[in-house]
Amino acid sequence: ADNRLAEIGVTGLAVMGRNLARNFARHGHRVAIHNRTYAKTQSLIDDHGDDGTFVPSESMADFVASLERPRRVLIMVKAGAGTDAVIEELIPLLEEGDIVIDAGNAHFPDTIRRENYLKEKGLHFVGTGVSGGEEGALNGPSIMPGGSRESYESLGPLLENISAKVDDTPCCTYVGPDGAGHFVKMVHNGIEYADMQLIAEAYDLIRQGTGKSAAEIADIFRSWNEGDLESFLIEITAEVLAHVDAETGQALVDVILDQAEQKGTGRWTVQNALDLGVPITGIAEATFARALSGGVPQREAARGVLPAHTADWAIDDGDAFVEDVRQALYASKVVAYSQGFDQIAAASAEFGWDIDRGAMARIWRGGCIIRARFLNRITEAYERTPDLALLIADPYFTEAISAALPAWRRVVVAAAEHGIPTPAFSSSLAYYDGVRADRLPAALIQGQRDFFGAHTYRRVDKPGTFHTEWSLDR
Ligand code: NAP
Repeated sequence: ADNRLAEIGVTGLAVMGRNLARNFARHGHRVAIHNRTYAKTQSLIDDHGDDGTFVPSESMADFVASLERPRRVLIMVKAGAGTDAVIEELIPLLEEGDIVIDAGNAHFPDTIRRENYLKEKGLHFVGTGVSGGEEGALNGPSIMPGGSRESYESLGPLLENISAKVDDTPCCTYVGPDGAGHFVKMVHNGIEYADMQLIAEAYDLIRQGTGKSAAEIADIFRSWNEGDLESFLIEITAEVLAHVDAETGQALVDVILDQAEQKGTGRWTVQNALDLGVPITGIAEATFARALSGGVPQREAARGVLPAHTADWAIDDGDAFVEDVRQALYASKVVAYSQGFDQIAAASAEFGWDIDRGAMARIWRGGCIIRARFLNRITEAYERTPDLALLIADPYFTEAISAALPAWRRVVVAAAEHGIPTPAFSSSLAYYDGVRADRLPAALIQGQRDFFGAHTYRRVDKPGTFHTEWSLDR
């Protein structure tokens, strides 16, 4: 290749793009850099010019001209209209076979649309999920690229170089065509919602149930991080709980307003699950729990008005209860992941993506927010049985949940008796009992539907569809 040309270009040099560009440079790649406003390009050179070789351009035309062919142009701008604007600017400057990469948080239907649009023009479009925030972008994110397999041949090695590594394996692999990469990133974020909610419920149960302080619970999470639950989220939870507010001397968690926010990926995940008809109760409850926390008028109307009628809270053995909560957390977490992987399987079938779920668990082991020890177990489960219908039916997880089940039931009972809201723990257990049930009351639902709408039903004892002449006045 011509030495003066750059291997990859990054346009959009706010926190994420700047750090990705530095990451490429630190791995010895020549990086063309561009930003709508030149000041950000200059600031990258001024602050981090020593990270490697940057090729700055003021205009998009010079930026494109500074790239070797096939050109690899990575867009890291504000998702939505920003991405479309940059694509329109790039199109007349690019040539057949060039690769446009959108590494922003695009919604996967937008990625499908953009890929079709660029394909007509002979260009490759790769929508890629990038997880790990600012820190990950700089030091190694988890990367989930979609688009054509052909484009991955040229682009993949660069992305794998800058990704996180676990056991020398890059946290980046080809996910599948068109929107597959952004889809998997979306579900990753949904699982992140569920994981965070479950951890928050565990904390609340221990806090209310045993009266332990935030600092004491921080120590509990630290010890949990030595076992099966070892993960980035458990680790940072301990740090958050241990943090003391300099102003008041109180645990910081006690002075933070209890209204959780969301940027929208949880909502997208749940909306898509409804479209596909996949029950992702853990993610949905986590998303709704944030909405409930932010429902200020409703909470004000209810606080001090709605009675609790709960038993007095009395835990005989705090340590035993804490261990029950740990087991319930583990089981609920496995259910939430199992549901997320079901959603990936359903979308993969619907859109023809052929996503390898074991490989997704593998690339989530490092760099991203849900990185966790137990993802290895998920990868192994899908290696044992690539078309596994239900993750929790894999023998390893069946046994792990079976061991946790008595504790899980005790915790959900205790939460209900004492009025502690545990939507994710409780709904995960309800899902578990639902999916393993011999017979479900769905038979009655079918009867009702046939009654009022002649929707027909099927029978257990013979094939075909049937309708009954129901009557109200018998
Ligand atoms: P951002 O605040 O989302 O966007 C700012 C950047 O977009 C600036 O470089 C800005 O250029 C550029 N931009 C906006 N509209 C534009 C337009 N119409 N034409 C050209 N450029 C435009 O930046 P960010 O926080 O670094 O995030 C970038 C992307 O990464 C977003 O899609 C975001 O959702 C995603 N993200 C991901 C993570 C993660 O963990 N994966 C974390 C944060 C963000 P100017 O400097 O000229 O204004």
